Amino acid sequence: MSLLIGRAAGCRDENLTRKSWRGQSLRLRCASVWDNRAMISLRNLDLNLLKALDALLDERSVTRAAARLNLTQSAMSGTLTRLRESLDDPLFVRAQRGIVPTARALELAAPVKRVLGDIEALLQPPLFDPKMDDAPNYGNTGGTIGHELTHAFDDEGRQFDAKGNLKDWWTKKDGKAFEERAQCIVDQYAQYTVVDDIKINSKLTLGEDVADLGGLILGWMAWKNQMASMPQQAQPAQFANEGLSPEQRFFVGYAQWACENDRPENLRVSAATDPHSPGKYRVNGVVINMPEFEKAFNCKPGQPMAAVKRCRVW
Ligand SMILES: [Zn+2]
Repeated sequence: MSLLIGRAAGCRDENLTRKSWRGQSLRLRCASVWDNRAMISLRNLDLNLLKALDALLDERSVTRAAARLNLTQSAMSGTLTRLRESLDDPLFVRAQRGIVPTARALELAAPVKRVLGDIEALLQPPLFDPKMDDAPNYGNTGGTIGHELTHAFDDEGRQFDAKGNLKDWWTKKDGKAFEERAQCIVDQYAQYTVVDDIKINSKLTLGEDVADLGGLILGWMAWKNQMASMPQQAQPAQFANEGLSPEQRFFVGYAQWACENDRPENLRVSAATDPHSPGKYRVNGVVINMPEFEKAFNCKPGQPMAAVKRCRVW
């Protein structure tokens, strides 16, 4: 999992520095925003540390927390030392019975539980399946991680600087180039019908649509990098007979999260209020912009999934 996050994050850097429409200043500063916002929270994400902090907060005892995580007491003490160093706070002080959390530790209690819950939810089949190979896992979980990373640079995220302050830090030229590219997405999604004669309000969904596309491109790049370093994993024997190529399975893996069925009433409410497009378009609207999809499924000109015009923001 951390490899997957690392690969997606590496591709974020690669993708940010490679694309040509952004000026030098934006490229450098994108890298700095990325470093400050996401690297701290994602690249340094250590699940074991989070779990340890959660256990210590629940148990208020190093011995009981160690037992809960099947660690020796000395391993747990070592983990607590690492936690203290990473978070720059004593976190727990000794008391007559067990340990007492500091204000900082208490402040972290709810966010840590939430993050652990989110990770657990994300790492369930069919989103992430340890029994499956890399293709569907990178398509789905890789795409999701990429989605969240891309939010730092969508129509909302771009308004915040590296420290999270509301500040337009882009040059006029870069801002204009971004808006032109984003407009392509706005025009594309505005054509999609949610229900009856209601179309997607694509100005409302822009940030999510941009993140969906940027995210799956990152997932793809991460997967391709992974395949280059471990080609033997490209198509494990047990999946070779399913009739789909690894590239096709990457996209099928991505689409798994969007198996959904909504009542028309609910669709109508979502169309007015939900900043996400309906699942169908969060899949079809994304992959139609990727030449990799067209190639994987051998789409011919004139077929529904062969794009006449492609959008690409990041
Ligand atoms: Zn999102």
